[in-house]
Amino acid sequence: MAKNHIIYNGYSPWMFNLKKAEGSYLWTQDDQKLIDFSSGWNVTNLGWNNSEIAEAVVAQAKTNVYAPMWTADAAQNTYAAQLTAALPKELDVVARATGGTEANEMALKMARAYTGRSKIIGFKDSYHGQSFGDLSLGYLPSYVEDIAPLVPDFIQLDYPSPDRTGTSAAESLDIFTTQLEDVLKKGDVAAILTEAGIITGWGSVSITAPGFLTVIRKMSEKYGTLLIVDEVGTGFSRCGSLFAIQTEAVTPDIITLAKGIANGAGVIGAVVTTSNIGDATYDKAKLTSTFGWTPLACAAAQKTLEIHIRDKMWEKAKADGDYALATLRQLLAGNPLVTDIRGKGMELGIALTNNAGSQVVENARKNGLHLAETGDTLQLMPPLTIERNVLAEGIDILATTIAAIRI
Ligand code: PMP
Repeated sequence: MAKNHIIYNGYSPWMFNLKKAEGSYLWTQDDQKLIDFSSGWNVTNLGWNNSEIAEAVVAQAKTNVYAPMWTADAAQNTYAAQLTAALPKELDVVARATGGTEANEMALKMARAYTGRSKIIGFKDSYHGQSFGDLSLGYLPSYVEDIAPLVPDFIQLDYPSPDRTGTSAAESLDIFTTQLEDVLKKGDVAAILTEAGIITGWGSVSITAPGFLTVIRKMSEKYGTLLIVDEVGTGFSRCGSLFAIQTEAVTPDIITLAKGIANGAGVIGAVVTTSNIGDATYDKAKLTSTFGWTPLACAAAQKTLEIHIRDKMWEKAKADGDYALATLRQLLAGNPLVTDIRGKGMELGIALTNNAGSQVVENARKNGLHLAETGDTLQLMPPLTIERNVLAEGIDILATTIAAIRI
């Protein structure tokens, strides 16, 4: 719907004008102060309007704000070196994008260009962006029937997540491994594109069976298929490590990043790959983007990564996440509305019956807490800098809100 000349997307029951945002708090146009449990969907991981990042952007604005795509400038070179140094050593070159959608689209094109194959494996009910290619990876047909057809040669598998398959982790992984090999062994799959075993896009906070990343890495290598891991949501300390691929120490062929990359202070996405793949595809895949990696955005991204590493942000995310998960499980035990509470680091999900998500979001907002939901799941993504007492207060509001709902 449109409001104040802006077209919102279809699922924004919580839309309101932001008057101010700082640290772990948001203020509405009516001066209501809200604890934020969304980080703008995994963007402001270092707190809203982080002052150190703001200062870096201001300094860069006085130096140089733009470099055309057939050049590079110091801010871009510095960030490319810093980002690749934070990733496995094989991933040593970047393509410059403006966000997650574009980064994933570039990665898909690189995979087709590199392998000369056309098929791509994605996962059902996952989210990787709004381009036709990204939509073809994971959208359910019912979501996209009004804009069909999507791109041909995309194959969608089911994630081996016990919360989705309804079977044990071991059984889910076994079934998945057989299905995957059946598809890969034909030798015509260019790439598998997946999140890093914690499904953050599309709201379900689904966690795949342990071993998932290891299986797809081994299988993709065996059959000459590239592995692309989308860390747009999981990256930058969100899940208890700087990047979620560290969970199983897996090195993909391509990793895509956006969202938390600049803490919201710059429009930027990244495709990081091996120099071998970069060299072989830069021309064939046409990796151009007029606004990819503006020096302003790079200044924000540099400072963001520097703070994550300096403060070992992932350690706090892990400790706070463990605390939040245990507290939520205790406070919500036996509540008939709640069917599951799961998560990794500070990416937490509460599965609800009766599609109660938007009702909880509305009521929580009245009680001073801002949340994100997708129908049957609340997705909790507090800023990682949140103070422990504020986190506890937010959890309390959430538990009280859920307990008061009668459906
Ligand atoms: N991948 C994942 C996992 C995402 O959650 C999102 C955004 N929600 C995207 C890609 C797309 O990123 P962007 O909105 O920056 O295009």
